Amino acid sequence: MKLEDVIRSKGSSVVTIAPTASVTELVSLMADHNIGAVVVSSDGATIEGIVSERDVVRGLAQRGAEAVDATVADLMTVDVVVGSPEDRIEETAHTMTVRRVRHVPIRVDGKLAAIVSIGDVVKYRIDQLTDERNHLLDYLHT
Ligand code: AMP
Repeated sequence: MKLEDVIRSKGSSVVTIAPTASVTELVSLMADHNIGAVVVSSDGATIEGIVSERDVVRGLAQRGAEAVDATVADLMTVDVVVGSPEDRIEETAHTMTVRRVRHVPIRVDGKLAAIVSIGDVVKYRIDQLTDERNHLLDYLHT
């Protein structure tokens, strides 16, 4: 099983934000799309960083109310763990656990192509195990 299987089932749209955007814009974007992380990109294709709700919490803890005046670049992580559609799902789940990240942007030919979250990985695995279980039950009862 590869990440391309997860991407096929969840879709390839990715919400991005420019590094110059404000934290106020960032939290509105996260709330509007009901997401926990946004890929930072000026052109929608080059991955410049990633910013998650944890970065916003950290920013608030460090800067207090002034955090809302900060820019996305002030809070983002620049050393981004990136995946490819050919990566094995189990490998990606392991990387997410070891690196303590819940989101992995997918890059194809140097360009942002999708994003996979730990929730997507867990959902895909549970759906697959449920299918396998149902097939086995069918087999036993026929
Ligand atoms: P998350 O678990 O995705 O909410 O993110 C927790 C922390 O890891 C935050 O500081 C994020 O900026 C950072 N982070 C999230 N995803 C990645 C990633 N793919 N590569 C590097 N850092 C990340």
